[in-house]
Amino acid sequence: MTVTVVGSIAFDAVKTPFGHRDRMLGGAATHFALAASFFDRVQVVGPVGADFGADEFDILATRGTDVTDVERIADGRTFFWAGEYGWDLNSRETLDTQLNVFAGWTPSLSSLSREAGVLFLANIQPELQRDVLEESRASFVALDSMNLWIEVARDALIDVVSRVNCLMLNDAELRQLTKRPNLLAAAREVLCWGPSIVVAKQGEYGATLVTDGSFFSLPAYPLETVIDPTGAGDTFAGGFVGYLARHGEEALSDDVLRQAMAYGTALASFNVEAFGTERVTRLTSAEIHRRVTELRDITRFEKAPVELVG
Ligand code: AMP
Repeated sequence: MTVTVVGSIAFDAVKTPFGHRDRMLGGAATHFALAASFFDRVQVVGPVGADFGADEFDILATRGTDVTDVERIADGRTFFWAGEYGWDLNSRETLDTQLNVFAGWTPSLSSLSREAGVLFLANIQPELQRDVLEESRASFVALDSMNLWIEVARDALIDVVSRVNCLMLNDAELRQLTKRPNLLAAAREVLCWGPSIVVAKQGEYGATLVTDGSFFSLPAYPLETVIDPTGAGDTFAGGFVGYLARHGEEALSDDVLRQAMAYGTALASFNVEAFGTERVTRLTSAEIHRRVTELRDITRFEKAPVELVG
């Protein structure tokens, strides 16, 4: 099924202990589309400014992603985000967020974007996520957000979350949103609001899937060198949602959801090996399949009970 994504399309300034980039292509929708395009057709919806050039459009259109719903606003500037990581790459400080063309923008979806079977509401103002949701005819909708929107637009965010099938958030954000200190309790709270699938992203510790009847956790693919984690969560989401989209209208069994977790995990592991979109742009499907196989081997164990005392 075709996947439509709305979310930030950005220029990022990022500093990690291993280097920096002052202005590189980024944004939640960008990272998502680069990953999801391995699985199915992707429609990107969102505004960019006059500073968004042909090179950026070319990267966004990797693997056939349709960018005709990316609106270029001639007198505007592209969304800008600046962040810095210390030695703990699981946490980062946001130094600057400039909404620019996203402030005052109203989404208008072409029929191809509207009719897509799957919709991903990537990280952006919850009101915009709601507007796109209301236009879309998708049968499966997943949503991501972040601490900023939980802080400044909590009610609007809960309203849109309650209308989607799947919520994907960092574990700390899931606790912040639900005001529950325990991950499982927080996920179960969200399941009561409406979604039937909750994915908690846990950075270098992996990701956890919670549904009404099931719990599944995968570690991150073990890497010795991580250069820049920016976009890892969106790349994970692109792999996870892309895999589900490829399964079409078929009911989402627990097995399919677990396989989607593996593809999301493998894709995210490539994203962090270089700055921004650099690694995923030149990634191949053979490399992805190899990492999924390795992940299965890493996480497998046999039940071999010994007699225990007591
Ligand atoms: P991730 O590392 O997966 O959380 O995503 C990082 C991407 O999110 C960066 O490329 C930023 O451009 C984008 N981003 C950062 N802050 C925001 C925000 N407040 N709203 C939307 N996108 C954002």
